[in-house]
Amino acid sequence: MRLNVNKLLHTPGASQDFRFEMDLSDLDFGGSKPVCRPVIVEGRVRNEAGMLLCELQAQTTLHCVCDRCLDEFDREKSVPYSCILAEEKATDENDDIILLEQDEVDLSDLARTAFILSMDTKNLCSPDCKGLCGGCGANLNRESCRCKKQVDPRLAKLAKLLEQND
Ligand SMILES: [Zn+2]
Ligand SMILES: [Zn+2]
Repeated sequence: MRLNVNKLLHTPGASQDFRFEMDLSDLDFGGSKPVCRPVIVEGRVRNEAGMLLCELQAQTTLHCVCDRCLDEFDREKSVPYSCILAEEKATDENDDIILLEQDEVDLSDLARTAFILSMDTKNLCSPDCKGLCGGCGANLNRESCRCKKQVDPRLAKLAKLLEQND
């Protein structure tokens, strides 16, 4: 969504609200595509003392796979972002200043970038997820490890024989 801010630029105190949806379902994060639902973007551009401030919030529900236990789960995600819109940059160092192109700002581009940068590299169903047992594959959040109980019956017999020979 592109917004023309020409009027806002020249009207101190003026503001404009915006709301749109983005489809980021193709975004691939380490082999999975967690953004399966639309991302709702809501925000406002306002002229404060001659400066254009842009604030927005990108919101969706992610569908994730836990890195430890491989369970699938949903997680609410809300990404706040703000920047200053300007016709020209005073210095190159301020990343918070976004340059306007012919008085227009590409809000989708801003929201998309902010959203992607905020994605976690690790996904855990809960901070204390116990994961899967490396031996029996049990999901230790729900069941107990079966490794110890699985004694090979042939070995059990052998152990008994050895006992008798003593
Ligand atoms: Zn987990
Ligand atoms: Zn086990």
